Amino acid sequence: MQRKINFNAGPSELPPEVLHEASKAVKKYEKAGLSILEISHRSPEFLDILSESKLLVRELCGIGADYEVLWLHGGGRMQFCMIPMNFLSEKDSAGYIDSGHWAAEALEYATHYGDIQVLATSKEDKYSRLPHWPSAIPKQLAYVHLTTNNTISGTQWHSIPKTKTPLIADMSSDIFSRKQDYKQYAMFYAAAQKNLGAAGVALAVIHKDLLGRTARELPPMLSYKAQAKENSIVNTANVFGIYVSLLMLRWIKAKGIDAIERENNQKAKLLYDTLDNSKAFTPSVKEKSQRSLMNVCFTANSPEKEKAFLALCEENNITGIKGHRSVGGFRASIYNAVPLESVELLVKLMGEVGA
Ligand SMILES: *Cc1c(COP(=O)(O)O)cnc(C)c1O
Repeated sequence: MQRKINFNAGPSELPPEVLHEASKAVKKYEKAGLSILEISHRSPEFLDILSESKLLVRELCGIGADYEVLWLHGGGRMQFCMIPMNFLSEKDSAGYIDSGHWAAEALEYATHYGDIQVLATSKEDKYSRLPHWPSAIPKQLAYVHLTTNNTISGTQWHSIPKTKTPLIADMSSDIFSRKQDYKQYAMFYAAAQKNLGAAGVALAVIHKDLLGRTARELPPMLSYKAQAKENSIVNTANVFGIYVSLLMLRWIKAKGIDAIERENNQKAKLLYDTLDNSKAFTPSVKEKSQRSLMNVCFTANSPEKEKAFLALCEENNITGIKGHRSVGGFRASIYNAVPLESVELLVKLMGEVGA
């Protein structure tokens, strides 16, 4: 069977070079003379993988030794738990920006640990737009949590106002997709399966000032401080998953963030321009300045057109184009590794459904 053209929202497309290197390492990781699946998490080979990956994260984000770079288990949702466990005591409040499905889930998880203030929400509009950024952020908050790209509804914060309260950002679906000031965040994190590798792994980058806080005593697996002290190997690390993320980081560095951003803009512009001029489809996010460059959501203008488009996609070996089950319609996820040619094909098929 031919390889499919992949628009999945996550796990999503990985570059062919990364898949090639990863599969070679499963057979034999040269430096160790064993499969990467067989090497110890305490071996010098894995320690090299860890240190190179951390170095690359620092370089790509332009951050220094005042941040800790951690590789953790449990994907995005485990971070939804660990953030309030570590930084929100029962006496304190944290602010949450409720801009989408994942933002709302992060918020819900945090209610188990302390007081939560919803600083802004667009829930009443089913997250089809971004909420208004709060005009004032209460100083006494332990932190403010936001989601930079809303994977399901297809909106994205293209800039975030500076604030004195520590900002914690879920960047699961847009990390390394564009130039940005990572230093404005006290912490940022990403589940790896969108722009950074395989599911299960999470990257967490935490400023040492924030890391110094302890909201409660925690077992070491759940404590950022302990994970930092143990170099992310409190237990048997996800050696293979972290290796795939290292391959992604090398790929991102070789390509360059500038070139990646340029291509991402080009792919998104092609799709949104087509949608804005189409009589057969409608883009789900009306406000152009809020549209996601990673997840392009749209609907067909009639059930017949929807069916025709789905059939065309299937004929052309396209997968992952259906919208999230909670919103329906269509969603083209065009992360860093999705080539322009895939988007060009999609646009051509949209034209065949109706100009
Ligand atoms: C995919 C996603 C998550 C969830 O990640 P899991 O690893 O499945 O827990 C969290 N936040 C955002 C923004 C996402 O896109």
